[in-house]
Amino acid sequence: MRLQVLGTAAGGGVPQWNCACPGCSGARAHPGRRRRHASLAVQLDDGAYVVNATPDIAEQIEACAWLRPGPGPRESPLKGVILTDAELDHTIGLLRLREADALEVRSTPVVRHALRPFAELLRPYLQLTWADADTVPVSGKRPRYAAGSPEAAGWVSALRLGPLVYAPAMGVWPDELDEAFRQAACVIVDGTFWDDEEPRRTGISARTATQMGHLPIEATMKRLSKLPGRRLYTHLNNTNPLVDPAAEQHKVLAELGIEVAADGMVIDL
Ligand SMILES: [Zn+2]
Repeated sequence: MRLQVLGTAAGGGVPQWNCACPGCSGARAHPGRRRRHASLAVQLDDGAYVVNATPDIAEQIEACAWLRPGPGPRESPLKGVILTDAELDHTIGLLRLREADALEVRSTPVVRHALRPFAELLRPYLQLTWADADTVPVSGKRPRYAAGSPEAAGWVSALRLGPLVYAPAMGVWPDELDEAFRQAACVIVDGTFWDDEEPRRTGISARTATQMGHLPIEATMKRLSKLPGRRLYTHLNNTNPLVDPAAEQHKVLAELGIEVAADGMVIDL
């Protein structure tokens, strides 16, 4: 399966437009440290898909040679978008795709329901069709804009994509997910925060990483290291020490045989 990593940052990206924390300032000073919002390009049997529609989606498509349009003036190989959740950082890119003639969106039913306002906005522009994604539930956390919606499984999912399991947000690691991970040739998982106190220590939230719906790397790396396939972290927040290539945390992961995903990385599966 053809797979290219299009972005590896959590919401806001690195740097985030209104942030001058060490991670964001470092990325301004060293452009090689910039990370776009976490996303993948995957070539499935029935076409090319982008996984999560981020605010960077147009530039991300440009950055992936086999997603660029052609040979005709309005021919795009992009068949659709597959969503892990309904968070704005993973969905507002749908609005940027309004120039398409038609797009398929795969998600869970609860995410599809939450995105009805998007579907209404886009209706005059393009034909959206909806389908179910192959998912494992990993969190019941709703987006803030959907706080009034009922709690339900399927708000946040891991995606099964052929030999890959993609879980950029992981609030829990249930047995069902473990099963999917063990069967995968490659897993790309939630590396938003290094440790549970990071969001509180850096002042970005009053909640811990776990309370924000993200198991921290410190809580998952040992278990991850025991999986049989290739293992990578993605969805790095700008507070995560891993955004600095010199951080010693890189050595900790390397010793466990775990990689940190990079924008533009091609993974052969
Ligand atoms: Zn920052």
